[in-house]
Amino acid sequence: MINRIAHWIDGRLTDGTSGRTSPVFNPATGQQTAEVQLASAAEAEAAVAKAVFAARSWGSASLSRRSAVLFAFRELLNARSGELASIVTAEHGKVLSDAAGEIARGLENAEFATSVAHLLKGGFSEQVSTGVDVYSIRQPVGVVAGITPFNFPVMVPLWMCCNAIACGNAFVLKPSEKDPSASLFIAQLWKDAGLPDGVFTVLQGDKEAVDALLTHPDIAALSFVGSTPIARYIYETGTAHGKRVQALGGAKNHMLVLPDADVDQAADAAVSAAYGAAGERCMAISVAVAVGDVGDALVDAIAVRLPKLTVGDGAAQGIDMGPLITAAHRNTVKSYVDEGERAGATLVVDGREANVPQDGFFLGMTLLDNVTPAMTVYRDEIFGPVLCVVRAGTYDEAMQLINSNPYANGTAIFTRDGGAARRFQNEVQVGMIGINVPIPVPVAYYSFGGWKASLFGDTHMYGPEGISFYTRGKVVTSRWPDPATSSVDLGFPRTR
Ligand code: NAD
Repeated sequence: MINRIAHWIDGRLTDGTSGRTSPVFNPATGQQTAEVQLASAAEAEAAVAKAVFAARSWGSASLSRRSAVLFAFRELLNARSGELASIVTAEHGKVLSDAAGEIARGLENAEFATSVAHLLKGGFSEQVSTGVDVYSIRQPVGVVAGITPFNFPVMVPLWMCCNAIACGNAFVLKPSEKDPSASLFIAQLWKDAGLPDGVFTVLQGDKEAVDALLTHPDIAALSFVGSTPIARYIYETGTAHGKRVQALGGAKNHMLVLPDADVDQAADAAVSAAYGAAGERCMAISVAVAVGDVGDALVDAIAVRLPKLTVGDGAAQGIDMGPLITAAHRNTVKSYVDEGERAGATLVVDGREANVPQDGFFLGMTLLDNVTPAMTVYRDEIFGPVLCVVRAGTYDEAMQLINSNPYANGTAIFTRDGGAARRFQNEVQVGMIGINVPIPVPVAYYSFGGWKASLFGDTHMYGPEGISFYTRGKVVTSRWPDPATSSVDLGFPRTR
């Protein structure tokens, strides 16, 4: 019998009533392993009502109680990360070590949020006028929603829910319907950590559930991570309905390699950042821009590394790269390689010819050289194991290329020259920069976000900007009578 993946409402698993479901696969075998229920608008409405009720008391819970729940959640997540990694691999396909890495990066957000008492401290100005003090406080916004992509079924929900909950909000997660099981494991951990029922909700679903959240009057703020067309839609619809929205979109991340770079270091970085998680990362490197005469050495160094990597079931030992998320997506990525070849790119390594398991949604690693900005392999986000190399004559030409790309999530430079690196970080119009670091996902006490078509909204995700997004500021101006006129005998006035 096929496993039915339910919602998590008011602190318990809740069967759906819409009658609509979507299949869930193990991408390494190609077999359907479950079906996830898809919420109707009415089910979304009922789930939000429970969250509204829960938010009232959670929003006034003491800071020490909230941080105690966060500490307990962090401990449980850490203790059970192995089980959670297996769940991720079984539905996403990434190798177990990568799934564990995603959990570790998500865990950082729970750790950051344990400091909520410190993070919510306001300012205080005494005696701005005689007997008048001014101070600021930050309060929860109420019920907030998170809509997340398939590629990080643990880390991205944790980017959002740890801070949202620590700040005193109720959080409604609408995970990807492609790998929904991790969300329920996280829900149980929150419950075990002592979070009151209704503060963390999982609403499984697709566009119907998302639209219900986007237009619901009781959803105060909405965080989204996914592809650019959907991010734009979420931002426009959510803000038109009066909500705070942060919507992170797709990416086409460039890695600039200067002629003085350590070629082995750059090649190692390119291989792990381009092909890790089969290229299904928003911070994957998908374009290497080789400046001057470094191109041939770089392409050779990447090409010799690829045959040493093993493609297979991510749950097995010794595997470097797993499958893609669905058969349809694998076929799309393959068609990009066809298209690149037709357009005249040089096929240095052809992933279509790789020896990969026949069951499951596998595709080997592709390396394309002499790619030009006019080619679709350069223009589109492929989101698969395909690395394009573009040759640039000069640093300025390379910079021009990166800055004219519509996406601006992450980028990296490889060089031994501190002055060049410093100029790059200053000039490049991208949200997250790596210097001799391929995937510069900021630690949890900074914030994550791209520019241009990679982020719609003003606030980056998690870290200090996450705290600001999930709270509203208030400034209080208070006047108390002069102590000399007080009815209570306070003795002589203090002097300073
Ligand atoms: P997606 O945009 O297809 O889906 C994301 C979420 O939106 C899912 O929960 C999905 O159910 C929902 N959704 C899909 N279509 C919708 C519609 N028409 N209306 C309303 N909701 C809809 O993205 P994906 O394929 O799950 O994830 C991959 C994409 O996410 C890539 O483009 C990747 O770059 C991007 N991504 C970006 C970041 C970032 O930080 N910028 C991080 C991870 C992934």
